[in-house]
Amino acid sequence: MASVAPKARKHLSADALFRLVHTGFDHIPDDRPAEVDIALPDVLMSAFAMFSLTAPSLLAFAKERAEGNVHTIYGIQRVPCDTYMREILDPVSPKWLRPVFTNVFRHLQRGTALESLTFLDGHYLLALDGTESFSSKTIHCASCLHRVHRNGSITYTHQLWGAALIHPDQRAVIPLMPEPMMHCDGMDKHDCERNAAKRFIAKLRQDHPHLKCIVTEDALRSNAPHLETLHDYGCHYLLGVKAGDHAYLFQQVQAAEHAGRVTSSERHDRAAGLVHRFRFLNDVSLNASHAGVRVNCIEYWEMGQDKVQPCSWITDLRVTKRHVFHLMRGGRARWKIDNETFNTLKNQGDHFEHTYGHGEQHLSVVFAMLMMLAFLVDQAQQLCCAWCRAVWLKLGSKRLLWERMRALFYTYALTSMRQLFEALLYGFKRSSPLVPMDSS
Ligand SMILES: [Zn+2]
Repeated sequence: MASVAPKARKHLSADALFRLVHTGFDHIPDDRPAEVDIALPDVLMSAFAMFSLTAPSLLAFAKERAEGNVHTIYGIQRVPCDTYMREILDPVSPKWLRPVFTNVFRHLQRGTALESLTFLDGHYLLALDGTESFSSKTIHCASCLHRVHRNGSITYTHQLWGAALIHPDQRAVIPLMPEPMMHCDGMDKHDCERNAAKRFIAKLRQDHPHLKCIVTEDALRSNAPHLETLHDYGCHYLLGVKAGDHAYLFQQVQAAEHAGRVTSSERHDRAAGLVHRFRFLNDVSLNASHAGVRVNCIEYWEMGQDKVQPCSWITDLRVTKRHVFHLMRGGRARWKIDNETFNTLKNQGDHFEHTYGHGEQHLSVVFAMLMMLAFLVDQAQQLCCAWCRAVWLKLGSKRLLWERMRALFYTYALTSMRQLFEALLYGFKRSSPLVPMDSS
């Protein structure tokens, strides 16, 4: 039986998104003297291509790059050597990458690529969390955070406030530009995270004033000042709470239970052998010191044969029996920011400093941002490129997909990513003969 070619949405293809990224790089100011060997967009695009192909190291990319293909597929005129790439990218301020993320995001929005991620009444679930992208006792740069230990030794780290649109039914996530945490944020981690979160929300609203979102975060962020920030910037929330940290809230729910004012519900999932039990109360004070900050509280127990797993959230969305199950699934999908988003940084970054380099000013942060940008394009394809999905399905794993992609990329002359996907799906010779037939 002849196989049917996947239907592609051209403007959302890898080729179209690569062009969009390249155009974004064209607008980044280059502070070098006028006469330069390799243009800044080429250097940025080379680093992007390296992460997009998940090359194991900068040197590996520099050695293996196929000049013809980086030109036709990534639009790069000249690829820098590894040392030159580090040198040129080190002084580039990461802030210039923000419009590139925003452009890609808006393009996906316009192309209705994000529709499958809408969670509730046209709102997206936006998961936020902090993560450490680098830690060392010896290597450091001007933008490293310093953790001073009791014995006087210092650990240098880079931490990011990351964000991604997630959906409980979708494996793909759509990351937004992370907010780097700065040395001047404060001495402790919470201070850094609080300030980075504030900056992130303010910039989110600048870039996407009308984006309807429900922010989901862990219990550390369930405090009155943060809820006020979210409210001020027009974001709904669905945040974790813990009995240990939010005793006042849980006492009120308990008291309301005795007074018969809470709502309980249950849902049986016989196939999975689970019972989902809920107890919720709308319009309750978050804590004694902020009695005016009113929230809606959901308590949930996943009851299996041998164990019970409790979870709780607060939200500004009115909780009803009709959608409490859906909200629970949204709250539990928060793990995707760790597993799907940050692990990309961590997996590729295991030996990040040795393989890519750290720099003296911004290099480490610029690399982390470009890696996240490549991940955004990868996830957009996973979400809406029929070719990418068909090849992934055929090969069975993303790792194998990348391996095969790299093998073809480094070996054959290609004209587009579309051709590369076709070759992976149907075999190279069939889709693109090496010796063109003379049809005259
Ligand atoms: Zn550093």
